[in-house]
Amino acid sequence: MLSYKDALKTILAEANIRERQDLPLDEALGAITATRINGTEYLPPFHNSAMDGFAVISHMTKGASISNPVTLAVDGSTMAGDFPETSSDFIPKGAWEIMTGAPVPEGYDAVIRIEDIDILARDENERPTEISIKTQAFEGKNIRKAGTDFCPGDLLMEKGTRIGPNHIMALAALGQGNIPVIKPPKLAVISTGKELVDDMAHVLKPGQIRNSNSPYLIKSLAAFGITARNEGTIFDEPDKFEQKIQELLSKDIQIILSSGAVSMGRYDFIPDGLKKMGAEILFHKAAIRPGKPVLFARFPKGTYFFGLPGNPIASAVGLRFFAYPLIRKMLGQQQESPVKAMLNDDFTKESPFRFFQKAAFNVNAGGRLTVDILPGQESFKIKPLLQQNCWAIIPEDGLSVKAGSLIDIYPLSTDFGPNFSQG
Ligand code: AMP
Ligand code: MG
Repeated sequence: MLSYKDALKTILAEANIRERQDLPLDEALGAITATRINGTEYLPPFHNSAMDGFAVISHMTKGASISNPVTLAVDGSTMAGDFPETSSDFIPKGAWEIMTGAPVPEGYDAVIRIEDIDILARDENERPTEISIKTQAFEGKNIRKAGTDFCPGDLLMEKGTRIGPNHIMALAALGQGNIPVIKPPKLAVISTGKELVDDMAHVLKPGQIRNSNSPYLIKSLAAFGITARNEGTIFDEPDKFEQKIQELLSKDIQIILSSGAVSMGRYDFIPDGLKKMGAEILFHKAAIRPGKPVLFARFPKGTYFFGLPGNPIASAVGLRFFAYPLIRKMLGQQQESPVKAMLNDDFTKESPFRFFQKAAFNVNAGGRLTVDILPGQESFKIKPLLQQNCWAIIPEDGLSVKAGSLIDIYPLSTDFGPNFSQG
């Protein structure tokens, strides 16, 4: 049977990176950068005060202490958002009242916080005119220099990075209003199964179950900034399936995901249906668990089709380990790399397949990443997902893995921020 590695190779041989588009920053969360993004501004844009207090000339405060305060006249005052209006021949003689974030006027080289001064006199507008300083200032004290965070030309994001909230903060701070991103592929999701009920208000009749795959697939994709349309449920009628697929093929949709009807049952009509419509089946079945019946096909005009098995966990594995790699390729992203974690308990399996296990990682008292394979690995069991924070990979070779072994895990979401690496 086809190994996972070969299945992945087949998937990654398909599809090219999609075209780029510019998005306003406001709409860019979750999108993938199409180019490197370099800054063009300084941050801070100007020398500014880190404290509410008084800008001073540091050498004029030499020796100042509580018992030996230095008295200075106040030359002026600036709040954040204002720019100190000093004439070109202005020479600082004393101190300048300044608020946090306000530009430090030319000629001053330190700020003394308000807690370390006394105001000795004020004018008729309550502005301080004379202060006494109870601590010595050193050059640069409490001044946030221009460009100490970012300078023009700084690398902000590599090409192929998902834009997360942290990036939004930096991009907004630097005035990056339009972000070049890769246009995400559009997906459609259909479920199959006569037993399925989509209406939550419906009281289940004998033999019926609720459709949990479509909501899962659609919302998993949405969490990654990818739109998948819910194209409803096919009640195991091949004609209706073909009709629906023909309709989707005429739309701007790059990938169709279906769940169910790809196994060996008498009503598993998808493989034949696809062939009848001219699709090329690139593979059907892989040596994995759960999700062995997974199917990947391409229609003549290039639309891709993933036939995910109906069992909820098999469909989840199909999405994460088969459909996502294709989506990542279309987005110009690198493929995900796993993280190593130490297996807490012995694990045995009954077949030389690759196992994708519902698992939870933790950090132990020694600071090591450890992983528990959760109870309830059957592919119909959804409850363990409520504890799951990663997929644990048990490789093909061998039927048992000893406690203490390092295995690969894929955290549920690691896609925002710099790539995680274990040196
Ligand atoms: P199938 O792959 O069609 O043979 O379905 C395998 C199992 O998954 C059966 O027990 C189905 O009832 C169940 N199943 C299929 N589709 C869904 C779905 N959308 N939501 C929840 N369970 C499903
Ligand atoms: Mg079915």
